[in-house]
Formats: sequence, C-alpha cells, structure tokens
Amino acid sequence: MSIPETLRCPKCGSGDLAEIIYGPVEMTEKLLLQVQSKKVLIRSEPKPDNAPRYYCSYCGYEW
Ligand SMILES: [Zn+2]
Repeated sequence: MSIPETLRCPKCGSGDLAEIIYGPVEMTEKLLLQVQSKKVLIRSEPKPDNAPRYYCSYCGYEW
C-alpha cells in the first residue's frame, strides 16, 4: 500500500496526501510510522461502498 508519487489532489493539486485504510487493521511498526507521518489514515468503520481511497491533508478532499 502506497501512494503514487505523481498523484495529486484533483481539487487543489496538493501532493500532501494520505491513503485511507478501513479497519480493523493489524497495527505494525511500519504502519504506525506511516500514520504518524500522515501517509496513512486509518478508519475503524467497515469499508463503505465506493469508499474514497485517498485523502488530501491540505483541503480535506477525499476520492
Ligand atoms: Zn486537496
């Protein structure tokens, strides 16, 4: 799981993005580091239909 380097927010063009992961997840040291550096966003709810995969840390847009 990772974000393509060329990926940008379709709304504001920011590259400051996080990947959204739906729980429950097994927390590993690597995952914890990704969460702390805001590369991964963990949601504890079950994955909804058409769930957004990416989150823009700049404007809050999800897609
Ligand atoms: Zn954005």
